[in-house]
Amino acid sequence: MNSYEKYNLKEVINASGKMTILGVSKVSDEVLAAQQFGGQHFFEMADLTIQTGKHIANLLGAEDGIVVSSASAGIAQSVAGVIGEGNLYHVYHPFTNQITKREIILPKGHNVDYGTPVEVMVELGGGQVVEAGYANMCSAEHLEMMITPNTAAILYIKSHHTVQKSMLTVDEAAAVAKRHKLPLIVDAAAEEDLVKYREAGADLVIYSGAKALGGPSSGLVIGKASFIEWVRLQGKGIGRAMKIGKENILGLTTAIEEYVRDGSESGTSMRTRLEPFIKELNQLPHLQASVEQDGAGREIYRAKVQIKDSAPLSAIEVIKKLKEGQIAIYTREYRGNNGIIEFDIRAVNEKEMQQIVTRLAEILK
Ligand SMILES: *Cc1c(COP(=O)(O)O)cnc(C)c1O
Repeated sequence: MNSYEKYNLKEVINASGKMTILGVSKVSDEVLAAQQFGGQHFFEMADLTIQTGKHIANLLGAEDGIVVSSASAGIAQSVAGVIGEGNLYHVYHPFTNQITKREIILPKGHNVDYGTPVEVMVELGGGQVVEAGYANMCSAEHLEMMITPNTAAILYIKSHHTVQKSMLTVDEAAAVAKRHKLPLIVDAAAEEDLVKYREAGADLVIYSGAKALGGPSSGLVIGKASFIEWVRLQGKGIGRAMKIGKENILGLTTAIEEYVRDGSESGTSMRTRLEPFIKELNQLPHLQASVEQDGAGREIYRAKVQIKDSAPLSAIEVIKKLKEGQIAIYTREYRGNNGIIEFDIRAVNEKEMQQIVTRLAEILK
């Protein structure tokens, strides 16, 4: 009996992209093997944390790094780290009013909800969010004018969730931070570039382990050695409530090795895998399938399925039915109103593509 059967859960095909509500991503056999080794052996945990962090930092050309339980935990512990600056009294009294330098400046358009509001994680780390700029814009000047003697750091969220228009770049934020001798924390949770933000001048950069990196549930913080030391220290304080297990520390470390070696799936590979899928889809009545590149121009190719006017159901209804089947099939729904269903195949294998075709045939019969 597998877990789907045992707990009466629906099997899910994730053709929507990397979604936390579906469990984000699948891990490779190599990552699973590392998790298994971790699960079945003991370690001196302080050494495991330090040595895997150093190994990852070497792979990525950073001064140091630490595997944490999630990108969210990375934000909270980074904020606590820059507020406490290594002070052990602060670790044990993280919200003490003896420390008043707690302001974390964040562009207003970056104070988003990615499943949890960014400001909740900042406050969990003992920070006070100070928004800079306006809902639709933030410049270097907007950021700069919010700096006070109580500013502890600048936080920049690099994400498709944030306002993109009229927003200062990471480089510009780094220039402000440098001018005022403030730390810059970049949350790049779902980003693919593991170098760029540090090169731009960020002191700490945060990634989610199960998003682009294809790791297990985990997070990564990399950056300047002294800052990582402060983050690591939080393990004796608030970080304890965000503890990560040895199996996932080893799992993420292996996932990063793989990621550095192989990169993410190439556009060419996606197009090759899509070809037979598109062909099969186009055998079905009432739809037109084609390959389409990501709207933001990323090297991501998806199956675009246009539901024709002749179809018995609208695209919105088809999307709903796909989720309600024996196997729940989740798609990209953004363009449903225009009669379009998108299938992101990055986490979908050949067998699952076949299951999607079969289910669509049933629905459109
Ligand atoms: C997903 C995400 C996070 C949180 O990542 P977790 O590892 O799930 O905690 C934080 N920030 C942004 C911008 C995200 O997209």
